[in-house]
Amino acid sequence: MRDKPVTFGHKGYIGNDVCLPCLERCSVAQQFEDNFHRKFYYLRLSVTDVCNFKCTYCLPDGYKPSGRKNSSFLNLDEIRRVVKAFADCGTSKVRITGGEPSLRKDFTQIIETVAATQGVQKVATTTNGYRMAQNVASWKQAGLTHINVSIDSLDPRMFHQITGENKFHQVMAGIEKAFEVGYEQVKVNVVLMKDLNHQQLPQFLAWIKDKPIQLRFIELMQTGEMDELFQRHHVSGVAIRNQLIADGWILKVRAANDGPAQVFVHPDYQGEIGLIMPYEKHFCESCNRLRISAMGKLHLCLFGEQGLELRDLLQHDNQEAELIARIEQQLQTKKVSHFLHDGNSGMTPHLASIGG
Ligand code: SAM
Ligand code: SF4
Repeated sequence: MRDKPVTFGHKGYIGNDVCLPCLERCSVAQQFEDNFHRKFYYLRLSVTDVCNFKCTYCLPDGYKPSGRKNSSFLNLDEIRRVVKAFADCGTSKVRITGGEPSLRKDFTQIIETVAATQGVQKVATTTNGYRMAQNVASWKQAGLTHINVSIDSLDPRMFHQITGENKFHQVMAGIEKAFEVGYEQVKVNVVLMKDLNHQQLPQFLAWIKDKPIQLRFIELMQTGEMDELFQRHHVSGVAIRNQLIADGWILKVRAANDGPAQVFVHPDYQGEIGLIMPYEKHFCESCNRLRISAMGKLHLCLFGEQGLELRDLLQHDNQEAELIARIEQQLQTKKVSHFLHDGNSGMTPHLASIGG
């Protein structure tokens, strides 16, 4: 029999004793796991659908209010309860996303709430960087451990063309500020688009040569509201991967709560390159994440079903057992893979709707 667990954390044991996220023995009573033996260490929590950018691949016409009030997004108490339930079942990393999460007036308190949850070791956000220069110091103080910023081109005009906003310099200033306030690394997301940015690898590499930036190329994903743009601009990340390998870049080993990127390092570069290639075979095998929408629905996959209502079980602190049971039951229906290859992107109209 296993010894009495020695610390709080997660039951992701390797061999007999060691928990993968904690790297020591731990006492999490339960572990979210699906029928394909995938364990879930990573929660992507959307806190708003609202966004102030108009990225061509996401919200080309800008955010369209659905008629409901913004105040109907999960409140701080609901966020605290859902994150606690996930942490009690093995989640060690939470990414706060959206829409644009930093547009929430209580964004700093959201970070504090997530960071205060026992068992959560990494608190990350994905942001368009619009408010970063101004606010990143307070985010850090609140407990934000990791930042991803989206920058689709290093050419300000192309940045404007893709995002609909002439804010390149403001976003770059946000990255500088993040380093200034003490982040050792910033991750930058680049959605790879044929005939736009896909031939800008040399510029991106020059940028990260002496900067601790992990630059992640994300293959353009097809969503419900996008078809023509996908056909025109989708390009695989394979050519970039081949180029990196030919130039001496080496693939890093993944940790249990890492995201889906294949990360490459090179001795001559301070920065790293990540590739997120959801169309590649076996992409879903390493899936370790679940999603909660800003309205409190559980999504098992970015490209899945309508989402399962959890909100009624987020109203009181004593509902956790029932909440966990509902999530576990739904987890048993998680499919082995998405169906993007069949042109089926599920019910997701765009990634701003459940948090990319
Ligand atoms: N507004 C924030 C931002 O843009 O960083 C957070 C939400 S956004 C939906 C999260 C990430 O998804 C961004 O890096 C964005 O570039 C990416 N994304 C959005 N739509 C996408 C698509 N169709 N294909 C690939 N990546 C997409
Ligand atoms: Fe907004 Fe992010 Fe979507 Fe761009 S990708 S429109 S910044 S939610």
